[in-house]
Amino acid sequence: MGCGTSKVLPEPPKDVQLDLVKKVEPYTGHKTDVYKHFIKDDGVGALKTGCPSPPYHIQPYPGAHVANHTEPPEPRRTRVAKYRAKFDPRVTAKYDIKALIGRGSFSRVVRVEHKATKQPYAIKMIETKYREGREVCESELCVLRRVRHTNIIQLIEVFETQERVYMVMELATGGELFDRIIAKGSFTERDATRVLQMVLDGVKYLHTLGITHRDLKPENLLYYHPGTDSKIMITDFGLASARKKGDDCLMKTTCGTPEYIAPEILVRKPYTNSVDMWALGVISYILLSGTMPFEDDNRSRLYRQILKGKYSYSGEPWPSVSNLAKDFIDRLLTVDPGARMTALQALKHPWVVSMAASSSMKNLHRSISQNLLKRASSRCQSTKSAQSTRSSRSTRSNKSRRVRERELRQLNLRYQQQYNG
Ligand code: ADP
Ligand code: MG
Repeated sequence: MGCGTSKVLPEPPKDVQLDLVKKVEPYTGHKTDVYKHFIKDDGVGALKTGCPSPPYHIQPYPGAHVANHTEPPEPRRTRVAKYRAKFDPRVTAKYDIKALIGRGSFSRVVRVEHKATKQPYAIKMIETKYREGREVCESELCVLRRVRHTNIIQLIEVFETQERVYMVMELATGGELFDRIIAKGSFTERDATRVLQMVLDGVKYLHTLGITHRDLKPENLLYYHPGTDSKIMITDFGLASARKKGDDCLMKTTCGTPEYIAPEILVRKPYTNSVDMWALGVISYILLSGTMPFEDDNRSRLYRQILKGKYSYSGEPWPSVSNLAKDFIDRLLTVDPGARMTALQALKHPWVVSMAASSSMKNLHRSISQNLLKRASSRCQSTKSAQSTRSSRSTRSNKSRRVRERELRQLNLRYQQQYNG
């Protein structure tokens, strides 16, 4: 389970529809006139047919929710009523259900208001009648019950029934990391180090407690509020591993999101919390360029790139990015986990230390947002053409989040043949 070494790769139940993710104007609920439908894509989010031009909620990086404007919107009142009906009376006695703000494989996330204090919160409702849902839920609760940190979403209380668990959490209303970057007029290396400092602080804290997140990616980093001075918070501990003192610190479960997965997981070696540092290397690369370090529609080729640690600094805006920033990324995207920076070392890296104090910096915003948007629209094209040939969208949904065991077994076999003769 989530707290041990035996947690198996969560696979979604057959009768749960995973692909279509209706995400109603996330976070705040106050800009809900345009209802959007989202799909979890196979790690290469793409706008589908009929997508209007920006600015829309485009999340062009792997694992992101992507707008699907082909389905007619369901009236808001019906939808809220539908979800309200799924809530235990103990929950609705205390909280008003306001809007659906997120939807995952086994979960629905709603914005609620505490009836007495009028304080807004998020409630993540997880279906636990299936083993996989129970596992995700146990992982998440196991971690959230132990943590208290300014850059980690805080659990307020939990309600449990036979079929569902309701986690009342702090509500993050500032949106996901990359939406904010696109919406901003400027983005400098100093801005990047400020974001990374907050995430690293949270990750350092988790690692000190023996917790490995295992699914760090932009969509799991949420801004607390819409203001420019908002802190960023780490969310979604459904794949996290939490060790008790004295436990073997090595993990074996193959899990994560393909583009962010560390090479040692791909070769199915026992691994440590340094897999989170690899994912932070991928996030740092995207943060500074709007492009992915490792990318290929073909999974085997993608994994091969990751195994070789092969990425480049070509194209805009890399010539304008400092060598120190590149050194920071290189020390995270290091194939040997033993040589990879720890969270503490990353916080002390000269780029992070010197940038945090620097004032005038080159604005990288234009290239970064152009790259993110270019990526979104090219994905839009490829999805349009692929759509007709795909029989099941749920397969794509699965792919977005999980690495397949069989795929890895074959890859691992080839890898061993190559290196052991
Ligand atoms: P999953 O495991 O299905 O990815 P998440 O915990 O990431 O579940 O939640 C799904 C989505 O719901 C997130 O991507 C985010 O948009 C939204 N969400 C989750 N928790 C919160 C929160 N505390 N505040 C605001 N939005 C949230
Ligand atoms: Mg998530």
